[in-house]
Amino acid sequence: MNACLFCKISAKKIPAKIIYEDSEAVAFEDINPQAPVHVLIIPKKHISTTLDITEEDNPLIGHLFRIAGKIAEERGVARRGFRLVMNTNPESGQSVYHIHLHLLGGRQMHWPPG
Ligand code: AMP
Ligand code: ZN
Repeated sequence: MNACLFCKISAKKIPAKIIYEDSEAVAFEDINPQAPVHVLIIPKKHISTTLDITEEDNPLIGHLFRIAGKIAEERGVARRGFRLVMNTNPESGQSVYHIHLHLLGGRQMHWPPG
């Protein structure tokens, strides 16, 4: 997946403000933050969309959510509240086709989302 932006970030071929890394996942600051806290949590494994997640990825997906929760705690938004979003395909606004969990927090969120 040489052309994939987030594969390049996880391989350190493109710089990003990485705030967490382990053998399976990376978390970094969104380049165009939509809230005071806007972090992207990605698997190192290339998965294009949520529709491409397989049974064997189940622990990996759970891992992404657990990382998000830890970062929310660290950033002081866990108790206040935060939003986790994984956009899928064009009408959702997905622009990078390597799954990523948006962690958004630090301001009042609205519903329905835009
Ligand atoms: P989505 O629209 O759900 O696919 O989200 C893609 C996100 O990636 C957007 O919030 C972008 O601001 C963010 N993004 C794009 N390029 C970079 C980059 N080089 N480093 C960090 N975040 C990025
Ligand atoms: Zn990728």
